[in-house]
Amino acid sequence: MAYKLGEVILSRETISRRVKELADEIANDYGKNKPVVVVGILTGAAFFLTDIVRELPEDMDVRVDFMSVASYGDNTESSGVVRIFHDLKSSIEGKHVIVVEDIVDSGLTLSHLIGLLEGRHPASLKVCVLLDKYERRKTEVKVDYCGFRIPDKFVVGYGLDYAGKWRHLKDIKYVVEE
Ligand code: 5GP
Repeated sequence: MAYKLGEVILSRETISRRVKELADEIANDYGKNKPVVVVGILTGAAFFLTDIVRELPEDMDVRVDFMSVASYGDNTESSGVVRIFHDLKSSIEGKHVIVVEDIVDSGLTLSHLIGLLEGRHPASLKVCVLLDKYERRKTEVKVDYCGFRIPDKFVVGYGLDYAGKWRHLKDIKYVVEE
């Protein structure tokens, strides 16, 4: 089946406003005396992460690191068993960590990843997601910062892909059958 881009669900302006609000929340929670490591999950969250960290105040102590993971499963359902392709550069032991993910769907990938990172004994670990498909949750995940709750429909753009395509779109759009 072929797919094409559908209507805009979140415009670039809406995303940008919300990113600023989330950055304000994070800045209030951590302040300038609490160093934070922001961990982006590649590839999707890279776009959201770079926007959000640039909205944080200059006097905050912010480090950025990335991880690349894939969850085993078929094309539409993740199994929650996460394989690491690219690990963090630095240890997170004793650090305050914020994991940044593009979207939480069943929650399986994120909950497995959180378990894995908790095992490295950070001082604290919070989760920031741009999109939450709450209707599809199979396992509870504690989301501390959430951009938008969205319905159960496939979306692309602003980092999110369909078969590797459409990550570069500025707006988030639905994908529809051609
Ligand atoms: P979970 O383990 O929570 O089911 O899977 C989350 C992952 O599924 C996300 O990191 C993302 O790769 C993928 N995903 C879930 N829903 C969508 C969607 O609507 N669009 C895109 N592009 N990816 C999605």
